[in-house]
Amino acid sequence: MDLPSERWIALIERGKCPFQDKIKRATEKYNATAVVIYNENKTEDTIFMSQEDSEVLSVNLKKVDGEHIKRLLASGISVKMTISIGKKYTKEATQSNISKTSVLFVSISFIVLMIISLAWLVFYYIQRFRYAHAKERLARRLASAAKKAIAKIPQRNVKSGDKELDSDFDQCAVCIEGYKAHDVIRTLPCKHVFHKSCVDPWLLEQRSCPMCKLDILRAYGMQVSTSLLFDVCIEVYLMKEN
Ligand SMILES: [Zn+2]
Ligand SMILES: [Zn+2]
Repeated sequence: MDLPSERWIALIERGKCPFQDKIKRATEKYNATAVVIYNENKTEDTIFMSQEDSEVLSVNLKKVDGEHIKRLLASGISVKMTISIGKKYTKEATQSNISKTSVLFVSISFIVLMIISLAWLVFYYIQRFRYAHAKERLARRLASAAKKAIAKIPQRNVKSGDKELDSDFDQCAVCIEGYKAHDVIRTLPCKHVFHKSCVDPWLLEQRSCPMCKLDILRAYGMQVSTSLLFDVCIEVYLMKEN
C-alpha cells in the first residue's frame, strides 16, 4: 500500500467489524492522523459511536458524502480534509431551542390574535359609525317629511259660534285646556282637534295623532322607509357605485 509521507486522514466504510479495530489498524499500522467513517447502508444516515475510549479523532459521514470522496480518490484526485470543532450538541442546547421555539410560537399567536382583535374593532366601529350616520339621516328625512305633512294639516282661527267653544267639546289633549275664540287650531285627518301651538311640536317629533296614534305621514301618502338596515344597504350600494 502506497502511503503519503505527510499527515493523512483515513476514509473507512463502516462494514461489519467493530469501529475501534478499524481505527486502530488505520492509525497504528498505516499511521493515519484521523479517521473518517461513512455508512454503507443508505437507510441509516448517521452513525453514532462512542469516542470516549479512543485517543484517535474519528468523524462520521453520510453514505452519499463518503462515496463522493471515495469516487474522487479513485479517480486520482487528492482530497484535502479539514476537521474543526463544531457546535457542541447538548441537551441544554436542545431545550433552549425548544423554549425559543415556544416563545416564538406564543409571540406569533399573540400578534395574530392582536391583529384579529384590531380588525374586529375597526369593523365594529365602522359599522357603528355607519349605523349612527344612517340613523341621523333617517331622523332628518323623517323631520322634513313631518314638516311637509304638518303644512298640509288644515288650520283655522276659532270664531264665536264654532262647535269648539261648546262646553261639551273635547279639550286640547296636549295642554288639557278648552278652546277660546281666536285660538289657532288644527284638525288632523282623524278629525281630532288640537291647538296649533300644542300639536305642531308633537307632530314634528312623533308624527302621529296624540289621541289615536294615526300616522300623519301615511295619512298624507308620504312613505319614508324607517328601516335602518335598508338605509345602510343603500349606503353600501352607493359606495360601490362610486
Ligand atoms: Zn293645547
Ligand atoms: Zn286622532
